[in-house]
Amino acid sequence: MTVWTAGFGVPDLAARSGLSTDALGRLRTDETLTSVDDERIVAAGDSAAPSDLPLRMSCQAAIPLGARAADTVLSRIADERPSPLNQLFAGQCISLGRRDGIFQFAHRYDVALGLHIDGRPGARLKELVCQGIVKHLADEARKPGAYRLHRVSGGAKRRQLLQARRGEAPAPPATAERAV
Ligand SMILES: Cc1cc2nc3c(=O)[nH]c(=O)nc-3n(C[C@H](O)[C@H](O)[C@H](O)COP(=O)(O)OP(=O)(O)OC[C@H]3O[C@@H](n4cnc5c(N)ncnc54)[C@H](O)[C@@H]3O)c2cc1C
Repeated sequence: MTVWTAGFGVPDLAARSGLSTDALGRLRTDETLTSVDDERIVAAGDSAAPSDLPLRMSCQAAIPLGARAADTVLSRIADERPSPLNQLFAGQCISLGRRDGIFQFAHRYDVALGLHIDGRPGARLKELVCQGIVKHLADEARKPGAYRLHRVSGGAKRRQLLQARRGEAPAPPATAERAV
């Protein structure tokens, strides 16, 4: 048996650029993924540290962050105010071969729920996730703007964390968020 392990890392491009980065070398940005030093520069995915509150390194975060970064660029070109990120998570999944896997469901703000699917159905679900990623890319290539998951609300949690850090009282939740 071979056990292969690999860690996650961040390319050193941002750190070498002289722009502000966090301890891991991720570009420090605001909530629109714009560099805190230069509004002509945006970051997405593993290399971004928005508001010093980076998201879990994952394709689950990187894909919507990529779309969010693209929206920020398009907003700036149109001389409009870019929207802040509002990341939605679904869970974590891993498969071991085709017959075993686990899908651990999570709150949309990325904290595990007491619900999972394991065994062959778990592996099948992971496979569907992998197929979905390729489908997202193909759909976006065919019809730019088709990808919209980055616009689905991740809830109020992130905003509350940011407010707590700034020492502000939390704002009342929006109606759509209260129901969750
Ligand atoms: C072994 C492994 C398993 C993983 N499994 C999962 C999983 O099951 N589910 C999940 O959600 N996530 C998983 N991840 C994490 C996921 O792959 C990453 O979080 C995701 O790919 C980040 O996307 P990204 O676009 O930010 O960066 P990347 O996908 O790393 O893309 C960055 C690109 O930039 C290029 N680059 C770097 N420096 C430069 C430079 N100076 N100039 C030009 N190009 C440059 C790199 O070559 C690379 O192609 C896994 C990661 C690893 C290593």
